Formats: sequence, structure tokens, C-alpha cells
Amino acid sequence: MDPFGRQIDYLRVSVTDRCNERCLYCMPEGYRGWARRADHLTADEIIRVVEASTALGFRKFRLTGGEPLIRTDIVDIARRIWELPGVQTLGISTNGVQLAKLAEPLKQAGVRSVNISLDTLDPTVYQKLTGCRIGPVLDGVAAAQAAGFEVVKLNCVLLRGLTDDQLPGLVEFAAARNMPMRFIELMPLAPGGPIDERHFFSVAEAMARLAETDVLEPAADKPPGHGPARYFRLRRSGALVGFIGAVTCADFCATCNKLRLTANGRLRPCLGRHGEIDLMPALRSPSPDGTAVAGAITEAITNKPETHSFTDDFKVGRPMTAIGG
Ligand code: SAM
Ligand code: SF4
Repeated sequence: MDPFGRQIDYLRVSVTDRCNERCLYCMPEGYRGWARRADHLTADEIIRVVEASTALGFRKFRLTGGEPLIRTDIVDIARRIWELPGVQTLGISTNGVQLAKLAEPLKQAGVRSVNISLDTLDPTVYQKLTGCRIGPVLDGVAAAQAAGFEVVKLNCVLLRGLTDDQLPGLVEFAAARNMPMRFIELMPLAPGGPIDERHFFSVAEAMARLAETDVLEPAADKPPGHGPARYFRLRRSGALVGFIGAVTCADFCATCNKLRLTANGRLRPCLGRHGEIDLMPALRSPSPDGTAVAGAITEAITNKPETHSFTDDFKVGRPMTAIGG
């Protein structure tokens, strides 16, 4: 339990701060703040942190980045995490570009759930937002569906003037594949670029947009994930839609259950606050000490703030790609 009575049992593990896409809302223009490769956690180091966290009651794990599938040892990392006692569920978040070839190996390695970023179905808008072609991503979605994961979710960042006209089409696309579609509010994590607060489109606006053609009813089903999304069913189409109101939902942090591990070995108790705890001295000391890693995880839980500070003149320290989304 953290000081606010929340059970912290979910670790998001960023395996790299690099990416093969360039999403305008994730990477500030001209970003050069990459960690040196030598400072990236090795697979062994990642496993040691996950192992230490399971001893402290962590049960849910998600691999993320940057883009986790660009790590050549990603399948091995997934398999090793899945084999650890205490791990109950393992997910991965990806842009889908390399999923066509990796969906099946990841499934075999033990990955249970896959979140795929898909902000638009329009190839031109996709190219503008990410710098890449949509075709491989759609192939990745199909491969994830064919591989038979427990759940495959699609994620779209809400952007006024860019993705806000895509919502019904995305919902329909996801529902046709029996995938929950989730809409995420833009967080102020990539300053200085072409995406700014003028693009902010709230979850309430997204719900109103979908309510123009259907009726949203709170979903009675067990939520298909362990995060903060609120799920609704559309009465007419039956689609399952999740909303992540990171900025506007007042009680967004009340049920937060996670810590983040950055690719360069920092434990981050909150995405929207800058405090981090450096695990590297414990992991890279000449006599690596499991107690020190466990102590740092406990410290991160103890220091977990009650709420993020996105709405209090938040100044970006690290962008999303460097923290791990
Ligand atoms: N590369 C993978 C992907 O795109 O899914 C995993 C990492 S990405 C940082 C994880 C999630 O963070 C994605 O769903 C992405 O859309 C979201 N994200 C990135 N920057 C964001 C921002 N400024 N506001 C809200 N969500 C953001
Ligand atoms: Fe890469 Fe994912 Fe960030 Fe896009 S959202 S730049 S795919 S890490």
C-alpha cells in the first residue's frame, strides 16, 4: 500500500527510449535527449528489477518504451518475465510497426495482452502524425488478432483537428475485430513541437462526439486491463470504448496502481511528477545487492504522490518516449 491506501502492484517497464516512429505528441521536435545505449538496462537488469518487485507484491507487468519491439531481445525479455514466480499478467504496448513478425513469438513467450497505438485510419494523417506508413501497423493489428492474445486494445490520442473526426471510424474498426478502442487525453509531455494545448480534446468532448450517433452506457463487463480507463458500451453497435481522462478527470489518480521503470533504470512513481529514484547504483555496483533494489522500490511506493501535476503549470522534464508510456 502507498500512503494514500492504493495497492501498488503494476510495473510498467520501459525497455528503450528509442523509437521507429516520430509521433508529434510524444517526441519533441529535434529531440536529442536519448540515453546512451550503455545506460539502457540490460535484459538481466530488467529481470532483476521485476524479480525484486514480485517479492514486494507486484503482479502485473507491461513492456513499453519508446518502441519495445525494436529491442532485438524483446521476446527473450518477455519470456523471462513470464517465467518468474508471482507474475500474473504481462502486456506490451507497441506502435504495431513490427508486430506482424513478432505477434506470434510474443504470444508464445507469454505475453497476454497487447496495446497498439492507432490514432487514425487515414494514411495521410497517420503519416503526418507519426512520420510512418500505416500499412505495416494494420498488418500488425491483424497479426495480433490472429495470434490469439487474451486482449488486444487499440489506443488513440485525442487531438483536436487531427484525430477528433476519426472517432466513429476507429470505434467501428476496433469493434469489428472485437478489440476495445481507447481514447487518451493529450498530456503535456512533448513541448515546443507542433502539437500544443490548442490540440487538446477532452474525454468529455469525445464522449459527446460518439453520443451524436449512439448511446454510451457504462460497461458492466470486467475492464479489459489494469489501468485507469473508464469503459462504456455503445448501445447500438455493441462496441467497447475506454476513455483515459488523464488531464480532466478529477479522480484519475485515486486508483493508480503503478510504478514506472525507465529504460535507463529510474523508478518513476508518477508520470505527471518529476521525482525519480535511480536504481543504477544498486544494479551496477560491484556486488549487486537485491536488498538495495527492493529498498528503492519500497521508497518509490512511499514517495508516490497523491495526484499528478499536469494541471498545475507542469514543466516537462522528460518526454513520454523517455519516461515510458
Ligand atoms: N511505442 C509504443 C506505443 O506507441 O504504443 C509504446 C510507448 S508510447 C509512449 C505509449 C502510449 O503513450 C501510446 O499509446 C501513446 O499514444 C501514448 N502517448 C505518447 N505521448 C503522449 C502524450 N503526450 N499524451 C498522451 N498519450 C501519449
Ligand atoms: Fe514512438 Fe510510441 Fe512515442 Fe509514437 S507514441 S513516438 S510510437 S514511443
